[in-house]
Amino acid sequence: MPSPQETLHQVFGYEQFRDEQEGIIQHLISGGDALVLMPTGSGKSLCYQIPSMLRSGVGIIVSPLIALMKNQVDRLLQMGVRAAFLNSSLDFQSQRKVEIQMQRSELDLLYVAPERLMTESFLRLLEKTPLALFAIDEAHCVSQWGHDFRPEYLQLTILHERFPKIPRIALTATADLPTRKEIAEKLQLQNAKLFLTSFDRPNIRYHVELKENSRHQLLQWIQGGHEKHSGIVYCLSRKKTEKIAEFLQKKGFKALPYHAGLDSEVRNLNQERFLNEEGMIMVATIAFGMGIDKPDVRFVAHLDLPKSLEAYFQETGRAGRDGLPADAWMTYGLGDVITMKKMISESAADEKRKRVELQKLNSLLGFCETTVCRRQVLLKYFGEERNESCGNCDTCLEPIETWEGTVAAQKAISCVFRSGERFGANHLIDILLGENNRRVEQFRHDRLSTFGIGKEYVFSQWHSVFRQLVAMDLLTADLDGFGSLKITEKARPILKGEKKIFFRKDPEPKKRERIKTRLPKPTLADFDFQEPESQKLWEELRSCRLELARKQGVPPYMIFHDSTLKELVCRRPQTLEEFSHISGVGEFKLKTYGEDFLEVVKKYPAGTAEKIPTVASSNDSASGLSDTASDTLDLIREGKTPEQIAALRQLKLNTIYNHLAEAIQHRQLNVEEILSLPIGEVRHIENTMLSLQENQPGMKPVFEAYQGKYEYGILHCVRAGLLARER
Ligand code: ADP
Ligand code: ZN
Repeated sequence: MPSPQETLHQVFGYEQFRDEQEGIIQHLISGGDALVLMPTGSGKSLCYQIPSMLRSGVGIIVSPLIALMKNQVDRLLQMGVRAAFLNSSLDFQSQRKVEIQMQRSELDLLYVAPERLMTESFLRLLEKTPLALFAIDEAHCVSQWGHDFRPEYLQLTILHERFPKIPRIALTATADLPTRKEIAEKLQLQNAKLFLTSFDRPNIRYHVELKENSRHQLLQWIQGGHEKHSGIVYCLSRKKTEKIAEFLQKKGFKALPYHAGLDSEVRNLNQERFLNEEGMIMVATIAFGMGIDKPDVRFVAHLDLPKSLEAYFQETGRAGRDGLPADAWMTYGLGDVITMKKMISESAADEKRKRVELQKLNSLLGFCETTVCRRQVLLKYFGEERNESCGNCDTCLEPIETWEGTVAAQKAISCVFRSGERFGANHLIDILLGENNRRVEQFRHDRLSTFGIGKEYVFSQWHSVFRQLVAMDLLTADLDGFGSLKITEKARPILKGEKKIFFRKDPEPKKRERIKTRLPKPTLADFDFQEPESQKLWEELRSCRLELARKQGVPPYMIFHDSTLKELVCRRPQTLEEFSHISGVGEFKLKTYGEDFLEVVKKYPAGTAEKIPTVASSNDSASGLSDTASDTLDLIREGKTPEQIAALRQLKLNTIYNHLAEAIQHRQLNVEEILSLPIGEVRHIENTMLSLQENQPGMKPVFEAYQGKYEYGILHCVRAGLLARER
């Protein structure tokens, strides 16, 4: 039997396991049960795929979505893994065929829908089949509180009762504690080993923008670097998805709507197109999402507030599964808060549930209004404490100022009180500003004691105050649907002056423009190449991939991910042997596609590549590299690690890293080549550098920002990589 490591390498073409993957796999292989909580895109599927392949018998994967099953199976088939699925989309004959394959042990993995699994006939069939394991994917579907609840999932305990010896693994990307507990209880996995990894998605950059003209803002956002990318735009209503899709189409984008009210044929077609075509924008309600594991979604935008931080995390998590930089962007304003509160109060749910939902909304608003690192707030919600700021969210990149607004808050709240808690923010602001308009006169509000007491601020500032008071739950929206504001219990200490209050200073619109242009452009796959030759090769590789994908009717990323193509451009392998070392190239894909891609790459001589060790020119001194750095570089090319070189040359490890930094800056070496950090982490450090260097030059602030997690030498290499790209 091959080892998990060998399988990872030969079948999937990956070098190393991530985080807990190996531990989970070992645990299952030795027959244990597991409950796995890992964020979207972190590589959950490998955790059951490899044990299914290595244990004898077939692994049964329970999955809630038909589209998801087909996608997973197609992917496995691309790698030469024996996989199939069983669900209502197959005709009778195909179903029989799969069942026979299964009984003859001709399959390593079988994906089934839960309702199918639960039929007596299928359970009997399972009893006659050698089984490797049961995997329950999207296990949060068992949670009655969650929005993906599937009643069939509750019956899955049958598996445990009827097949007590077969190991089970339940997986989910939903992290909150109550759901976790519910999964363990409902699936009888209390004794399973819990595997929990960090929920951080370092390659996703979070932004929240104040809503002014959201369409226009969205357009600007997309045009600021995402013109050619796949993305998802979430809206609250079905109608809005259609309108926004149409708007984007008119502006020249490939955009499609998706919501539960569309004809199922149209819906499937739109989904297929999103998965298969490049640069497609899906404008959707939350009906779209679960199981969309397209790796190269480059942005997720929210034009309306999601329901909770969990929902936000799930939805934004669909961006950047491939680990390359991606954006999560949201516009939000007072109107959204009022709409959401109204929706919750008017829903048919019982009081307890409404309270839970309001609490969740409040946490989300806290995230929107935060003045500290957004990632800290997000992770804290999932129980992870972070001390350092991330350097990759809007509040880190452009710190938010605060102001003490106790008096302003008192004025605003009294104004709500004096006018009888019957009016919305705009009218209240008119009173505060002392506007003598018709409505003010009609209600004789010019006689209120709060009339004209707020002239020290302008309209937009007061608007910001009211929005934040609502977000802090000091004011709340009434159920009348007109946005009237009422005072909550929590406002009392403020009115009495017992508690100070701080507001965030909203950036002025003009300033916001400036921020956007100053932000480092996302260093995305297709922007990365300096040499025109590389760009040409990249385009050619992409069309080669597209052609192969079309022939088979699968999405391009199933052939190779962008990250694999990118590596091909940089490394320019000239033989199949060299080709096999590229990440994402397993044995089967090498056999199937190696020649096709090699033929393209060979047209571009290695010497003209972006400079990296294997293909760099032999004359280093001509490139301005110092002799001692050259010596280090030679040793790196012999395959030595920096630690080995330090020992060999009797130099400090940091010195070796400084040599490497020099080589990187001279583009003799790629930063990814020598640092064993995931690309997301490298980008993370880069972003921190870019955001810090503005105010504090030097490396010390960066070193401290990570509390010494990365040695100076490593930081120097990362910075050299940045400089090399700027050249
Ligand atoms: P999840 O189910 O957790 O959302 P997936 O299983 O779809 O994530 O994996 C996300 C992506 O990461 C996939 O493209 C997968 O091939 C890739 N991946 C998984 N494990 C590794 C690894 N050890 N090294 C490199 N890439 C990996
Ligand atoms: Zn941050």
